[in-house]
Amino acid sequence: MSRRAAALDTQQLLLFEAPAPLAVKPPAVAPPIAHTEPVAPITEPVSIASVLAPAVFRHPLADREIRLHEHVVAYALKRARRRSIGFIVGIEGLSVNAPKWVGLHDIEAALHEKSRWILKKLQEQQERAQRMQSARVDWRDGTTIPFLGETVIVLLDARATGAVLNTDAPSGSTAALSGVPRHTLHVGLPHSAAPEQIRDAVQSWLQRQARRVFEERCAHFAQQLKVRVTKLSLSSAQTRWGSASADGSIRLNWRLIHFAMPSIDYVVAHELAHLRHMDHSPRFWDVVRSVLPDYEQARGSLKDGLVPLLD
Ligand SMILES: [Zn+2]
Repeated sequence: MSRRAAALDTQQLLLFEAPAPLAVKPPAVAPPIAHTEPVAPITEPVSIASVLAPAVFRHPLADREIRLHEHVVAYALKRARRRSIGFIVGIEGLSVNAPKWVGLHDIEAALHEKSRWILKKLQEQQERAQRMQSARVDWRDGTTIPFLGETVIVLLDARATGAVLNTDAPSGSTAALSGVPRHTLHVGLPHSAAPEQIRDAVQSWLQRQARRVFEERCAHFAQQLKVRVTKLSLSSAQTRWGSASADGSIRLNWRLIHFAMPSIDYVVAHELAHLRHMDHSPRFWDVVRSVLPDYEQARGSLKDGLVPLLD
């Protein structure tokens, strides 16, 4: 089998909204590949200026500046051998690629014409950067991490071996809030430990838990779906939750372990269902539904949940 043919046998579940995998051609009658979530209809305001406080968007390599509605947009202009003006909005800001023969006046006219799209994308990127920043874990004694949908407090405890999870119910004297279970992860490191050491210890604990939970859930759904998983591996892909190959190998993102079980079950069932149907046809979703009638809810919470940056 050629490498290309092999690629056609792989299905991937994407982490964020992203283009559908190119590798798989949907059958003629099937709806579009749905690894991406349905995109909400774009309901643009009449004037984006009415919903955005005046802002400054500045690309680090900006060499031009323009005022679009109330907003100052500093962009990087690149001259390229191309036929049309191209706009790219990335995490850094706006860059514009224009043919050498197009004058600045025409470039600015094009920017004004596309201003609503540009401002909307700049705003989205800014929000995304802020969310990523707030999800960044501060690796120190007492930091908290999400684990199976619950909050776990990381405690440095040189007496502990490796990392040990305590899920004791509060015993009055030690509980900060009575009735609220206190989950603590005792990490066998001194208080002088560097943030990287804490991160590595907690990550390897999380990955061990991920393997344990995923193996159990794979066995459960493999039996229900009558499929055989030949290999289960953990991934740390930035953009996808899991993938399945026709040879029965399954890859699951270990960061799923932050989410509650229904979300984990959805990804496991989704990938295992691909061992029955290597597409996103109605037949495929029927298989998913047969083991998880409420899968759409779990799919939604995965999409809304923010994956903490653990590095
Ligand atoms: Zn899929």
